[in-house]
Amino acid sequence: MNTGPAPNPTTPDPTPSGAAARLRIVLVGTQHPGNIGSAARALKTMGLERLVLVAPEKAPNAESYALAAGADDVLAAAVVVPTLAEAVADCTLVLGCTARSRRIALDEHDPRDAAGRAVAAAAGGAEVALVFGRERTGLENDELQLCHAAIHIPANPGYSSLNLAAAVQVLTYELRMAVLAMAGAATAPGGDRDPPASHAELEGFFAQLGDALDAIDFHKGRAPESAMRKLRRIFLRADLDVREVRILRGVLADVERMAMLAGQRDRG
Ligand code: SAH
Repeated sequence: MNTGPAPNPTTPDPTPSGAAARLRIVLVGTQHPGNIGSAARALKTMGLERLVLVAPEKAPNAESYALAAGADDVLAAAVVVPTLAEAVADCTLVLGCTARSRRIALDEHDPRDAAGRAVAAAAGGAEVALVFGRERTGLENDELQLCHAAIHIPANPGYSSLNLAAAVQVLTYELRMAVLAMAGAATAPGGDRDPPASHAELEGFFAQLGDALDAIDFHKGRAPESAMRKLRRIFLRADLDVREVRILRGVLADVERMAMLAGQRDRG
């Protein structure tokens, strides 16, 4: 165990942005050492490594290490401090996880929004803390006052209190998803998609669709406008790229060819 101020990451951050290295998980007044180990495991599985323990009731022990199950490095590097104020002194964003909404005026996020906010801030260079309370009583109101916003996992309202390490896992998962989304956005702008189809390409497709539907007598004497309007809506919603339009037009060309062959057969 280390003691002292904010920890430094000891192993390289797996993410290009380095955002994960500026995220810390703070456990306040944890009562069960096993939960500290399970929380260390939760962090490590999600690519995080900075665990801060504020005045745990018992120091991490053999049970903690047993439940850390290979995340011993995260557990051994955990920093112990006496107060939440010290744990977050250098943070510019502090988010407190609560099992119930309190009567204090704090914005409340769900885990996904909170993770998006946390990772965006960390990617911008901020130190960010997610704070978790005691198993029995959660965070005190004065501890929540140190937070910029609260996070509530929208669990079953009749049974909303998760096990501490389970709550840490939910939040660290969302942090990882946000980090991965950011890394993906950074390395593949626009993803690996083909360019979007232009207006003219889509109109060419719609004209051919109209011809193909005529060729198979789809409208059967009805005015074609209403069906065409609905079909246009479907294909416009699909946000087609140039290659997808090409495939669809290939299908329509075959439809028209088969309709012509069928017509010839019927006539002959
Ligand atoms: N009886 C306590 C529950 C504590 S559970 C109470 O009612 O506050 C231990 C910690 O896990 C909580 O302090 C909180 O940080 C986290 N936690 C548990 N369930 C949660 C939920 N539904 N949303 C957000 N955090 C939760």
